[in-house]
Amino acid sequence: MELGELRPGSLSQQYNVCGKASCICKDPENPRRHGPYYQVSYGRKGKSSSTFVRPEDVGAVTKQLANYKKLMQLVTLWIDLGLEQSQITGKATSNKPARSKPKK
Ligand SMILES: [Zn+2]
Repeated sequence: MELGELRPGSLSQQYNVCGKASCICKDPENPRRHGPYYQVSYGRKGKSSSTFVRPEDVGAVTKQLANYKKLMQLVTLWIDLGLEQSQITGKATSNKPARSKPKK
């Protein structure tokens, strides 16, 4: 199985107003904000960041996000199976440390 390119985070759409006073985004009766702009928000090493995505890249980025999610599901499954196995073999049921501390 191949996962392909990975990207953590979630994709969101944003609509913005611009600086022009007489723009359609500031129309008093029927304001139409600019957009959508696509943005990926993600947390990495305790920091959260976001990056804009070009409309033509949305398809590829959506796939990368799905791949990342898939990987995380597989890792979770892997950990669950590892935990299950260590309970079966009894290696994790003892309260004693696995090996004694080296004496000086
Ligand atoms: Zn505008």
